[in-house]
Amino acid sequence: MSQWVFEPEPPTSLVIEGSELLFPVRRVYCVGRNYAEHAKEMGHSGREAPFFFTKPANAIVQIPAHREGLIKYPPKTKSLHHELELVAALGSGGTNLSVKEAEQAIWGYAIGLDLTRRDLQSQAKEKGRPWDVAKAFDQSAPMSTLYPRSYTGLLNTGLIFLDVNGVRRQQGDLSDMIWSTAECIAELSTYFELKPGDLLMTGTPSGVDVLLPNDHIVASIEGLGQLSFRMQ
Ligand code: MN
Repeated sequence: MSQWVFEPEPPTSLVIEGSELLFPVRRVYCVGRNYAEHAKEMGHSGREAPFFFTKPANAIVQIPAHREGLIKYPPKTKSLHHELELVAALGSGGTNLSVKEAEQAIWGYAIGLDLTRRDLQSQAKEKGRPWDVAKAFDQSAPMSTLYPRSYTGLLNTGLIFLDVNGVRRQQGDLSDMIWSTAECIAELSTYFELKPGDLLMTGTPSGVDVLLPNDHIVASIEGLGQLSFRMQ
């Protein structure tokens, strides 16, 4: 049997509410602009087809419920933005899924942040360059405990909010999504073969804004508890 030249990193995994088992993460897909009010604040309107980008799985930092996490403030930005998102975790996959099939593929949900170096993203948009340095940096995806869908049911409505230092910054309802979670997964499956362990970050409500060192963030989605951390 061949040996590694060095020990590979263990796969990213998520702790599951009410279970000793771990959820192995394969890929992290993200949807852009999926709430009308956020699309508006970013200068867009209408119901364009959802578009996608990715983060590496090892950008996830899981912060289990009832614990306060610490996230490293990333370098090379003067405009680190918070984007609070519902994360759907897939227990099965496939290509060209119908919306019904996409719904059945959802294994569970978590609260996630799509941290964004907005200044680098704006430059990338201007110059037609890729978004990776804006979206896919180390620790760019703080995430809560994963809740099995058998526990939460399908999440298509529910309050979603984010507070910074005790002040409400983002608030919406999951029903405000332009494309439902299942619709996004169905569309995504026309571009990629989805597999068990894939995650989808489903877009953020309006109110995205700047985070500074020492800021304290509390994010919540109805049915999924809270995600709490401080920026280092
Ligand atoms: Mn986002």
